[in-house]
Amino acid sequence: MKILVINAGSSSLKYQLFDTADGSVLAKGLCERIGIPGGHVKHTPAGRDTFEEDYKMDSHADGIRRVIELMTTGDTAVIGSMSEIDAVGHRVLHGGAEFSGSVLVTPEVKEAIKRCIPLGPLHNPANLTGILACEEAMGDIPQVAVFDTAFHQTMPDYAYMYAIPYEYYEKYQIRRYGFHGTSHRYVSAKAAEFLGKDIKDLKIVTCHLGNGSSIAAVDGGKCVDTSMGLTPLEGLPMGTRSGNLDPAILEFVMKNEGISDISEMLNILNKKSGMLGISGVSSDFRDLFAARDAGNERAKLALSCFTYSIRKFIGSYAAAMGGLDVVVFTAGVGENNAGIRADSVKGLEFMGVKIDDAKNNTRGTVDVTGEGSRVKVLVIPTDEEFVIASDTEEIVKAL
Ligand code: AMP
Repeated sequence: MKILVINAGSSSLKYQLFDTADGSVLAKGLCERIGIPGGHVKHTPAGRDTFEEDYKMDSHADGIRRVIELMTTGDTAVIGSMSEIDAVGHRVLHGGAEFSGSVLVTPEVKEAIKRCIPLGPLHNPANLTGILACEEAMGDIPQVAVFDTAFHQTMPDYAYMYAIPYEYYEKYQIRRYGFHGTSHRYVSAKAAEFLGKDIKDLKIVTCHLGNGSSIAAVDGGKCVDTSMGLTPLEGLPMGTRSGNLDPAILEFVMKNEGISDISEMLNILNKKSGMLGISGVSSDFRDLFAARDAGNERAKLALSCFTYSIRKFIGSYAAAMGGLDVVVFTAGVGENNAGIRADSVKGLEFMGVKIDDAKNNTRGTVDVTGEGSRVKVLVIPTDEEFVIASDTEEIVKAL
């Protein structure tokens, strides 16, 4: 099947066209500045140069129509016509407690995605716009929604409940939901496959470390806890997000800095905190390593806070599961940085977690487990778009 995978943002649209027969990506690209001046499209047919153009798009549907033109005509073509595309899979941020798996988009599903807008106010409207744009540009093609939150729906109530008045849970569904679920699901399954074991027999901690970072405890293939919460702000300190902190800090900073608008405070916690906030250098880990290696103490401190937090989550999730068989590292930082991996498990030797420095310096899907380690430590590149394509194929095949 040929499946178009869409990740729609408020003024952008990322896409990949998959051929699920061999899992290959036929083309991928990005429409930027949709609905605002300066529209731009980048389109890369597999194995060929990237085509770029300034292109005005009034709506996401305009973007989709242009992408289809690029995919079907001229030097940039990868298929003969739009009718070759069998289905569209969408990344949707928040499925609330409504979705524990991927689903075919129906009028009811669109309503449910709408109902989840208060939980994902920045992303869900854009994700829904992407779905409606495909309807407009591609007619009644089957569409599937794949939720970032779905994999975490198996968490027990005591793991997802916040200790605030229960009525807020009842009235507003305030609870832990977790994110990056597609990635945690994919790499935990791949880890079991790589080890030749049944995932039902494994207790796995998956560390998705990128610009946004989260950790999940996966027991027997089911998520039992995860570090992000109602929103992606909770958990590890990230590129620009604070992660966990004492909630009383908000009032303290607002009073002392004369901040009267809570949105401004949350903007500081989302966009100016984390690695950027501590280091004052950058949110990008490559810049942080360079600064640390050049002797910048705050960059060093930021990185230490990051790896210390990862170590604490691995330890606490081992406790939550009553054991640990595998630790997986994935995403931009987890896949590419040996130092972060090594520092994150330093001190966990007492739990049987050891890393091999030489193996740790390689790339790709690798077993970096140290000699005598009881726990396997793996690096597994994530591929969320591939999962979206696979889920879409499975659901559409069954129609
Ligand atoms: P992601 O959000 O998964 O795309 O990850 C983005 C983060 O991964 C950025 O902070 C990058 O600095 C980091 N990253 C990407 N490639 C590398 C690399 N080769 N070495 C270290 N960090 C990297």
